[in-house]
Amino acid sequence: MPSPRRLVPPFARQLAGDRLGLGRAAQSAHSERLTARTKTADKVVQSICPYCAVGCGQKVYVKDEKVIQIEGDPDSPISRGRLCPKGAASEKLVNSPMRETRVKYRPPGARDWEQISLEQASEMIAERLIKARAETWEEQTDDGELLKRTLGIHFLGGATLDTEENYLIKKFFTAAGALSIENQARI
Ligand code: SF4
Repeated sequence: MPSPRRLVPPFARQLAGDRLGLGRAAQSAHSERLTARTKTADKVVQSICPYCAVGCGQKVYVKDEKVIQIEGDPDSPISRGRLCPKGAASEKLVNSPMRETRVKYRPPGARDWEQISLEQASEMIAERLIKARAETWEEQTDDGELLKRTLGIHFLGGATLDTEENYLIKKFFTAAGALSIENQARI
């Protein structure tokens, strides 16, 4: 049995308090009964879209310690509530069953990936960094000018890195003597 309001023609409903026809006047009987996921969240956390250097503001809706929805943050001076299709689908990135959360390693020549621990991966990266630095270190030019650098280490960051992470990465690799330090968000 439709509600009495549904018996009123849409245009008349629009005139009666929803002049743009974007709210209750445009609701179907079905959508009238639905409740937005954002209404049932336990808490809302402000965040930044992880995808690109625009840095649009996001509101992350959490229920039972699980992310249930991510929407644009109207308080963000950058995006004023808007998200592009990729940012608007961020919840799928968080909750996708295909999301890879383990470290995968494919040894040289191998066809298959194997799973290794984060500790082992960190050790392997550190060992290779130290070895590459030692093997490619340039102390000075042939004329005796100081160089103190290596062209054997390069760093390419990703758009998901935040300002603080980029700061630390730049500081660390410059201290290690690397010159080629870049971030994908700039490319
Ligand atoms: S919502 Fe789109 S434009 Fe904004 S930061 Fe994310 S990916 Fe970039």
